[in-house]
Amino acid sequence: MQLSHAARSAESSAIRDLLRHADRPDVLSLAGGLPAAELFPVATISEVAGSVLARADGLQYGLSEGDLALREIVSDGDPENVLVTTGSQQALDLIGRVVLDPGDPVVVGDPCYVGARQVLLANRAELIGVGVDHDGLDVDELESHLAGGLRPKLVYVVANFDNPSGAVLAADRRARLAALADAHDFLIIEDDPYGALRYDGDPVAPIPGDRVLRLRSASKTLVPGLRVGWVSGPQFVIDAMVIAKQAVDLHTSTVSQAIVRELLLQPGWFDQHVAGLLPWYANQRDTLVAAIAAHLPAAEFHRPDGGMFVWCRLPGSDTASVLTDAVEAGVAFVPGSAFAVDRDLTDHLRLSFATVAAAQLPVAVARLAQVVQPG
Ligand code: PMP
Repeated sequence: MQLSHAARSAESSAIRDLLRHADRPDVLSLAGGLPAAELFPVATISEVAGSVLARADGLQYGLSEGDLALREIVSDGDPENVLVTTGSQQALDLIGRVVLDPGDPVVVGDPCYVGARQVLLANRAELIGVGVDHDGLDVDELESHLAGGLRPKLVYVVANFDNPSGAVLAADRRARLAALADAHDFLIIEDDPYGALRYDGDPVAPIPGDRVLRLRSASKTLVPGLRVGWVSGPQFVIDAMVIAKQAVDLHTSTVSQAIVRELLLQPGWFDQHVAGLLPWYANQRDTLVAAIAAHLPAAEFHRPDGGMFVWCRLPGSDTASVLTDAVEAGVAFVPGSAFAVDRDLTDHLRLSFATVAAAQLPVAVARLAQVVQPG
């Protein structure tokens, strides 16, 4: 007896294993993308959860599509066009299940969010990495792939405050991407868990057109533990995803959905809650950026306007090879190679400013500097 071919070929991440050891109290972790727990609206959630759990209907099976009242609140128009998912991670999986046949090409940014790469590969996509700069996915490069005959079924982008690059896809690139999707008949996955976490500048309108599967999540603005996300997009894809979801888990937890619904139904509550997060995260970002400038003068990076990550290049370094030493020195990060698709990102690293307290961020970066530029 052996595991399936798919399970045997699934990626096991050496970095994930190493970072598990980084979960020690003496290690300051700039690695994880965990939202700041001190900002969780614990009292409000516990109050709402109490009332949800006190009613039998909150504990019953629900529709695979998700709670109708929740879908009405989060939809931009038609709630039938919204599917509630168990985090946006599940939306990625369901899209893979209903859109991809084995070996189908899927374009992703290079670097790419590790969870997207993992789930697309699990759905037997063939990934094609396209470069990412400060304006997001390099649409010129995508266009030359298309001119060369590439016919992707999907193009995956984190258009706002990308994980890991921090980039925002520029408005003109969004429009060109939409036009290319029409011309070459592919779907765009616009994965947007971070869009509400903007600390500077004006929001950029979502990718236009009717070929966009838009993924949203309660994880970064509310709490990740409820595992509530939602997706909207072309109706035939959403309908197929509902059927796939029935087979996978019947529906997302009714308890979690009801908690999110009741929070969002309180007039003004969510907007006020998010408004409270922004200055806190902005200060975290500014503190991390200042610490990088002070301790790692050779680092090349852009200050992100939102999200949780600073994507750095340390020319000449091999960031994966120093991770063990860094953890020994009391700091963890994610090496660039963890996000690589086709490119060599050995000299990059992702630093999260979401989790470590501001007062400790300079300490963490100083420890990192000792390891990556000793002497
Ligand atoms: N997409 C991106 C870009 C993410 O960074 C994350 C979380 N790290 C997810 C999706 C998954 O989020 P969720 O908790 O909604 O499944």
